[in-house]
Amino acid sequence: MITKCDHPGCTKAGTCRAPKNRDLREYWHFCQKHAAEYNKNWNYYANMTPQEIEEDWERQTFGAPLKDTKTANANEAEYVQFLNDFITGRSRFDHAPKPSKLGTNITNAFRALDLPITATWREVGAKYRALAKKHHPDTAENKESATTEFTKITNAYNTLKQYFNK
Ligand SMILES: [Zn+2]
Repeated sequence: MITKCDHPGCTKAGTCRAPKNRDLREYWHFCQKHAAEYNKNWNYYANMTPQEIEEDWERQTFGAPLKDTKTANANEAEYVQFLNDFITGRSRFDHAPKPSKLGTNITNAFRALDLPITATWREVGAKYRALAKKHHPDTAENKESATTEFTKITNAYNTLKQYFNK
């Protein structure tokens, strides 16, 4: 028995299968032309929340959502994050580059501000403001050591400012 194309009004044979939904259990039967049209417009991620999309990517990449598997290494996690961001269109403007690419002056600058090298620009700014207030020569008891410290954190801040392209 030949099934007719499921496209309304089409009388051709429905020789191509197209999934009705993500479960991939039910299919439409279309002629070639309507199958191509349907596949082009079909959005796998329609009606999914960003959270569900992330979990779906993680499931496809690791076999389980990342929150369930701690074994995924950082590179894979970063790659999955990239894919997630690509799909959901989220920006990564505040994401710090990979630690392995950091020069000594950069790691020293993070250390001077007592921050991990994974800190974001926002965290750098907040920490600098707090430290600058604490070590400001105008208000410190020991002006000499405060000046030394203030210069150190300001240099570190300026180094990181360049590093984050701010
Ligand atoms: Zn058709």
